[in-house]
Amino acid sequence: MAQTGYTVSQMISAKAIAARIEDLAREIEQDFAGTNKLVVVGLLRGSFVFIADLVRELDLPVEVDFLEASSYGNAMESSREVRILKDLRGEIQARDVLVVEDIVDTGHTLNHVVGLLRSRAPARLKTIALLDKPVRREVDFRADWIGFEIPDEFVVGYGIDYAQRNRNLPFIGKVTLHEDAS
Ligand code: 5GP
Ligand code: MG
Repeated sequence: MAQTGYTVSQMISAKAIAARIEDLAREIEQDFAGTNKLVVVGLLRGSFVFIADLVRELDLPVEVDFLEASSYGNAMESSREVRILKDLRGEIQARDVLVVEDIVDTGHTLNHVVGLLRSRAPARLKTIALLDKPVRREVDFRADWIGFEIPDEFVVGYGIDYAQRNRNLPFIGKVTLHEDAS
């Protein structure tokens, strides 16, 4: 059966995402109150919309840096081997760090990235993910903040892609593949 295409149906609205980010930002502000050395680290590429909205909601002095770890490629399957494709530009030793990810799925990516960044001796390191799929977890990893828990569905939008498309959707949508009837 050949796949002929897919549809995207809305799972989390832009409005719900914005409201959740406001709440998360207040919690993060409390947690990092008084910091003057916070670096917000976005994991490329899926977190770029989330980090943009999150930092604009944060009433804290922040710097922004990015790191790219290997991910799915163009398929819808996770790989257990995590590689760093692009490292941070700045040093994080003795800095406060907030790592921003789009989705925690098996947990391998954030687990690996957190291990790497901790080895650089930051003052504090916390993690936030917009989405969490707890039923998919393969390693014992829990983000400090989660936007939404979702079921085991492949999602796109709000920065998250399917074969590099759909990152520009303003909402989180669920992908349904269509199979050729013939
Ligand atoms: P991990 O399995 O290591 O927790 O996640 C691997 C990567 O897969 C994450 O960085 C996340 O961006 C991506 N990922 C997990 N679930 C989905 C999904 O439903 N859609 C897309 N596009 N990427 C996903
Ligand atoms: Mg990713």
